[in-house]
Amino acid sequence: MESAEIRRRWLSFYEERGHTVVPSASLIADDPTLLLVPAGMVPFKPYFLGEVKPPWSRATSVQKCVRTPDIEEVGKTTRHGTFFQMCGNFSFGDYFKEGAITYAWELLTSPQDKGGYGLDPERLWITVYLDDDEAESIWRDKIGVPAERIQRLGKKDNYWSMGVPGPCGPCSEINYDRGPEFGVEGGPAVNDERYVEIWNLVFMQYERGEGTSKEDFEILGELPSKNIDTGLGMERLAMILQGVQNMYEIDTSMAVIKKATELTGVEYGAAHDSDVSLRVVTDHMRTSVMLIGDGVSPGNEGRGYVLRRIMRRAIRNMRLLGATGPVVKDLIDVVIEMMGQQYPELVSDRQRIETVALAEEAAFLKTLKAGTNILDTAISDTKESGGTVLAGDKAFLLHDTWGFPIDLTLEMAAEQGLSVDEDGFRRLMKEQRDKAKADAQAKKTGHADLGAYRQIADAAGETEFIGYDRTDGESR
Ligand code: ATP
Ligand code: MG
Ligand code: MG
Ligand code: MG
Repeated sequence: MESAEIRRRWLSFYEERGHTVVPSASLIADDPTLLLVPAGMVPFKPYFLGEVKPPWSRATSVQKCVRTPDIEEVGKTTRHGTFFQMCGNFSFGDYFKEGAITYAWELLTSPQDKGGYGLDPERLWITVYLDDDEAESIWRDKIGVPAERIQRLGKKDNYWSMGVPGPCGPCSEINYDRGPEFGVEGGPAVNDERYVEIWNLVFMQYERGEGTSKEDFEILGELPSKNIDTGLGMERLAMILQGVQNMYEIDTSMAVIKKATELTGVEYGAAHDSDVSLRVVTDHMRTSVMLIGDGVSPGNEGRGYVLRRIMRRAIRNMRLLGATGPVVKDLIDVVIEMMGQQYPELVSDRQRIETVALAEEAAFLKTLKAGTNILDTAISDTKESGGTVLAGDKAFLLHDTWGFPIDLTLEMAAEQGLSVDEDGFRRLMKEQRDKAKADAQAKKTGHADLGAYRQIADAAGETEFIGYDRTDGESR
């Protein structure tokens, strides 16, 4: 079943059951706490929090999502992309656990000729939160899932919360058993690649209070209404329905892998490392196109930096695969062709997307060679002097002069067995930022003397720079 059909069936299933179809919001979150949208519920957050009265009691969407924290998994696991689409259904004080579970089961298991996805019920495994007897009994007694295919998991996987105070509640997940070729038996509690998580049903029921982490907090009481927020990974379901090995090989991605093999002459399937690179390129080019499509431009801060590091990582992986010239135009043309079926604005906006992407590629290629030479020298100097840590000022120089995002330096150093003094790097970044601020201020006030600002900065002491850590997209 093609991705477009998965999406069509999703929306019509829920529309037929009284849900209003809401188009995907932009990836640029209309929310000061998030850089980019990591989940389908984000546009509905004010309704869940009770800040705004929802215009409907049921909604459904297929939301574009970006999760940068998953970047390290890309290409290595079969199921993590930095960009993916989350199919969701939402109840604002309408149906609750039983309704959400019944709908999910019906849609997944009804035969394909009856409008469902036709998954074999025997392959579906369920997880519920530790003490959620209610959800377990719905699955077991009402739906008929055998008790041995229902597992209980703790807060890390099966409890969701947002903000303090904010809504929270247990969740229940549906996982698909891909069979013994994906590893040992034992259910999703044991093996998350074989029993791949496809759908998370969140039961938003309580109000969360203070705590020390996402796994340790107080529960203040019940919310005035009980809500449902669910998310199914469209690419993960496509991977299962299309019988492919991983989410990069589905109908809307495989052509990008093919293009990358053509451009590099490296065959897909030839070796593990080159396969990972091909998948990284595929994922990152998709994400780049979607981000630029929504108006993000490469830069050194915030969303612009997310885009820059993703694009540069893709370009570098193409070099690792053997490409020598520019590759971005050919790759994004394929991405636009694939994704343009669902997002026609990519096609009408092709010119602008290309201009932005090609300028970034040109800027990076211009400095890549010189930067790589500097990095190689720094690495061999470090090794020769018996060190194992590349100095922070080298990482800073590479960033500042040669446009190497820190994770590129980290990755290239790691390939040579070195770590990087990230604290030192961040300190220098912070100093530079303070100086830029002081300069801007001086320009505004006409005072060229920066002494006063320096003094303030010194007196304030060291501030940890966290801008390159997780900036968005918490998993749950
Ligand atoms: P996982 O445990 O596999 O990392 P998750 O628990 O972080 O997934 P949720 O936050 O529950 O995922 O998101 C809801 C659904 O979105 C998941 O069940 C999955 O189908 C999909 N999903 C989550 N992260 C990704 C990703 N990086 N790429 C593709 N699909 C994803
Ligand atoms: Mg999970
Ligand atoms: Mg996750
Ligand atoms: Mg989950």
